[in-house]
Amino acid sequence: MPSDCTNYSTCPLTNNPGFISEPGEKDHYTGKYCRAGYKNWSRCKRYMIKLKYHFCPDFVMPDTPESADEILDKFEET
Ligand code: SF4
Repeated sequence: MPSDCTNYSTCPLTNNPGFISEPGEKDHYTGKYCRAGYKNWSRCKRYMIKLKYHFCPDFVMPDTPESADEILDKFEET
């Protein structure tokens, strides 16, 4: 059985109802990243940003294409 992401129990995407408003999108991300083994959840942009900066802005999704630097710039602009 594939392992769950080490952030699974604390990540807002998996724990906060309403974090994703689009129906089915949470299940899509959970199946493709969060519960799909190290190879997949370690590629999640939310995982990578949290590892690097110890937090992750809410606007970042697992497949957000921007780099960590671009995400930080965007966060600082808000
Ligand atoms: S894979 Fe990404 S979205 Fe899923 S629990 Fe881990 S950090 Fe959160």
